Amino acid sequence: MKEKILIIEDEKDIIKMLDYNLKKDGFRVASCRDGEEALDLAVSEHPDLILLDLMLPGMDGLEVCKTLKKEAKTSGIPIIMLTARAQEADKVVGLELGADDYVTKPFSPRELLARIKAVLRRAKDKEKLPQVLNIGDLKVDLSRIQVSIKDKPLELTAKEFELLTTLIKAKGRVLSRDYLLDTIWGFDHALEIQTRTVDVHIRSLRKKLKNQARNIITVKNYGYRFEADEN
Ligand code: CA
Repeated sequence: MKEKILIIEDEKDIIKMLDYNLKKDGFRVASCRDGEEALDLAVSEHPDLILLDLMLPGMDGLEVCKTLKKEAKTSGIPIIMLTARAQEADKVVGLELGADDYVTKPFSPRELLARIKAVLRRAKDKEKLPQVLNIGDLKVDLSRIQVSIKDKPLELTAKEFELLTTLIKAKGRVLSRDYLLDTIWGFDHALEIQTRTVDVHIRSLRKKLKNQARNIITVKNYGYRFEADEN
């Protein structure tokens, strides 16, 4: 069965145009005109992708995006933001909040379809990531949110787990403290919580990882990276 697209857009004509073109291309379509309803539909309709207008009455697109990406049930659904040309700054914020792409209005249906297909393809590739990662004696089960060393479970906090998996998934790339802060603690808190918070959590994570702590490399004055053992 073809993928389902959820359209969140308050302009009737745009919904109509999108609905027509998406269905013509074989997609299934659901739509709504405000953010609050969108949050419900994102769960009940099981969409494969969400088209999210930035300017909505009431809860705006950025708020909807943030909420969807925060909830475990909806965080995996790719989002393409629909923005007007004057909203350049919001577009950047949208991407930082976890939106996967954006399309500037006015757009052609063809351009949008191409973007939708690209984002869906990327999402499918992501699903292929193994759910259990083995690094030396360390085993990280992403679906069960469990970490163990030599099959002995570690008691990690939620933040420590996220920190560890974010580093592992970066596959050796260096991640800055600011990036980790934004990704794990959220955009909202970036100003209140200091980058030192990352260091504090890395320290406690290393303590729990014992021998495997060697895999977390400090990059001075910048951040951290995860280096898998050579086999
Ligand atoms: Ca609008």
